[in-house]
Amino acid sequence: MKSTVAKYNALLVVMILLVALASLAFNRHLIYQERLAHASQMLAGGVNNHITQHLREAGGRADKLDAGRLTEIIHESLHLPGVAAFGAVVDAGNQVVGGVGLTDEIRHAVAAHPIGPGNHALIEAGDLVMLPVQAVGGLNVVAGFSKDSIARSIWPLTANTSLFVAALLAIYFLLAYTALRYWIVNPLVRFLETRLRGSIDGIVSGNTPSALPEERFEVLPEEISVNIERNMRALHTWARHKTNFDKFIAISTAENNKQQLAANLHNILSLELPLKNFTVLEVNHSLNRLNPIFDARASSFCDELLSDPQRCFVYRSGSRLVQMPGEAVCGYCRTGDNQCKDEVLICKPLVSAGKEMGVCKVTLDNARLQRELAGAGNGSPVAVAESLLDTYVYLAALSLSNLTLIDSYKNQALTDGLTGLYNRRYMVEYMASLLSISKRGNKPLALFMVDIDNFKRLNDEYGHHVGDLVLKEVARTMRRAIRECDIIARYGGEEFVVTLPDTDSAVANEVGQRLVEAVASIEWNSHNLGNIPQVTVSVGVAEFPLHGYSHYHLTNAADKALYAAKRSGKNRVVIHQVLPDEESIARALECPDSALA
Ligand code: GH3
Ligand code: MG
Ligand code: MG
Repeated sequence: MKSTVAKYNALLVVMILLVALASLAFNRHLIYQERLAHASQMLAGGVNNHITQHLREAGGRADKLDAGRLTEIIHESLHLPGVAAFGAVVDAGNQVVGGVGLTDEIRHAVAAHPIGPGNHALIEAGDLVMLPVQAVGGLNVVAGFSKDSIARSIWPLTANTSLFVAALLAIYFLLAYTALRYWIVNPLVRFLETRLRGSIDGIVSGNTPSALPEERFEVLPEEISVNIERNMRALHTWARHKTNFDKFIAISTAENNKQQLAANLHNILSLELPLKNFTVLEVNHSLNRLNPIFDARASSFCDELLSDPQRCFVYRSGSRLVQMPGEAVCGYCRTGDNQCKDEVLICKPLVSAGKEMGVCKVTLDNARLQRELAGAGNGSPVAVAESLLDTYVYLAALSLSNLTLIDSYKNQALTDGLTGLYNRRYMVEYMASLLSISKRGNKPLALFMVDIDNFKRLNDEYGHHVGDLVLKEVARTMRRAIRECDIIARYGGEEFVVTLPDTDSAVANEVGQRLVEAVASIEWNSHNLGNIPQVTVSVGVAEFPLHGYSHYHLTNAADKALYAAKRSGKNRVVIHQVLPDEESIARALECPDSALA
């Protein structure tokens, strides 16, 4: 920066010198021409008259001229200090025989130009300007001056003028330089610095302001101002993208819920794009179905599309779809109708590791899009929006696939592979929180222990594969016989546990009866098992807080009731009858949370 300033300064000095030299040359030329014309005029007029006068006084005889007086006449008449003037007395053969201020050059020049009678014109001979003055007695007079001496005599005058011009120029340039610096360069630098600083600080701190300051840089020509403004806006937009993208990376890596992940994506994209709607459809591969996991405008989707993902072009092809206002490329997502006439639709496939995860559908307000994203990057506003979406959608697909993977691991760990019900581990964890909720809400809770009757015999007589089919069908039947909020788990072997929140033993008894009847009335013919004896279950019921305060005590009580049901003939429901002993009640009251666990 410093060396650049030094270069500019040196350039400025050179410019001043050049202009000063040019002015000097021009000035000298003008003054010289003016002096030469003046001297020639004076020679022809004043000098001629005075010499003629003096000759007349000397009786017309040149040999009678006084050299001192001749000198005076010439100098006084020319009135040009510093000019080398001369006066020569010339004989009829053109030879100089006397005079003043003579040199060899003058003698030769005079000899070369005949000074005859009637010759009164100025003679230019090289450096000399001469005037013949007629005298009598065979002698004549020639007066003149040297042009070169005129050029030399004007030096001091032209030097002064040029110095003055140079000084004026220096002042002019200095003023121009100062004005340029203080009115244009400095404010421009400050303006750029503030804007750049704002954007760069934003990038570094991850906290870009959402909008650029409105002030403009007025001093510069419109075109430059507009360019600066455009580049600043591009930098600012880029900084904001980065800040928001960083936020989304942080959020998406920490999020463990798909709906929340999609909602976060919607919130971040709302900062970047004029969103009108935002939907994430996730594919369920085992059910071959698209599920809307987030939809900002709660739109309704046609079931035809959801139940057959292959109908969706974007899902099927793995390519994006862009639909401008008024177009109707996709049969399921129109932007051509009145309601969406100024919307741009962009659908992107959610793909991770080559596997389709679903589709992200975005509708944008076209008027705002064209206005807000004009010049925000290379290409049209739609292209800018698309490339922005690509980055987010890529990351969202990655996070979705991670969550799907985690879900499937969780499912494997907490569900039973044969029946698809929750397993014992899940039930133990779930019971802890269920009991805690029931206790806080002062609500009853019923727990069933269910066991298939005579299952060993079935296995032994018809084989394990038949046993497995029976287990699956009994599990499915029981799941259907209870409420959505009731949880059923395979506890081990042919035993199941059912929890019924907010249910006392009287209601539980009715539910238990329904369960027993549902299993007993399974049509095994329809499962190609028409030859097996009727399958039945026995149910033992315990109630919180009546029969126990902890998972352990409740399962124990339900187990005892189940044992009673078996002993009394199976295919029935028995409610536990024995109240918890005094000691366990006291323990639960003293330390309720540990007792519940
Ligand atoms: P009760 O009516 O008294 O309950 O008699 P039960 O025969 O049902 O009871 P028992 O405990 O004697 O036998 C349970 C049988 O369940 C033993 C075991 O082979 C069978 N079993 C446990 N898990 C599975 C399984 O996953 N598949 C099959 N096919 N059988 C299982
Ligand atoms: Mg058993
Ligand atoms: Mg059994």
